[in-house]
Amino acid sequence: MRWVRRFSKLFAVFAVALLLFVVTGASDRLVLYAHILKLYTQTPDTRLAMPLEDVRKQSIADTWQAARGEGRKHEGQDIFATRGTPILSATSGYIYNIGENNLGGQTVSIIGKGGRVYYYAHLDSYARGIHIGDRVTTRTVLGYVGATGNAQSTPPHLHFGVYTSSGAINPLPMLTDRLPPTATRQETRPRSQLINRKA
Ligand SMILES: [Zn+2]
Repeated sequence: MRWVRRFSKLFAVFAVALLLFVVTGASDRLVLYAHILKLYTQTPDTRLAMPLEDVRKQSIADTWQAARGEGRKHEGQDIFATRGTPILSATSGYIYNIGENNLGGQTVSIIGKGGRVYYYAHLDSYARGIHIGDRVTTRTVLGYVGATGNAQSTPPHLHFGVYTSSGAINPLPMLTDRLPPTATRQETRPRSQLINRKA
């Protein structure tokens, strides 16, 4: 029964090729899941770097849980800036999702320590060459400020959300200015002159 042996050999080669195809295709995801498992064992960040380099925390109008129509409440903070301003990751972590949805428009989600997910929305565009599973630091540009999704009728801004396993939490108390302390001391303008737009 030579043909049986030959057939089984051919089948084995085919099976191995199929297995390799499946494994290599899914390997990126498997590596990401391994990273995520490790992140879950770590304590969540308590300080978040300001995602827009030149924005000061005190210039952000607190809109956490503000009414947003249809019984919806604002699950994050809006940080206003000129369209095209680079958005830096507020934490280290891994890119969990890159995608478009009705409310958020173009969005990037980062998974960080403790399995927390950091959500960046209304992006005008994504940073070139970013992929799901990429490692990020607080120096990684994720994309650029825009007004996509339900922000089309508002001035360009970054919607920044933080999600724990039990839901959204207010990012504002954790946000920390990136500007050096010396710049803060040189700040002489009265508070009333600082940008404090509402949205
Ligand atoms: Zn928002």
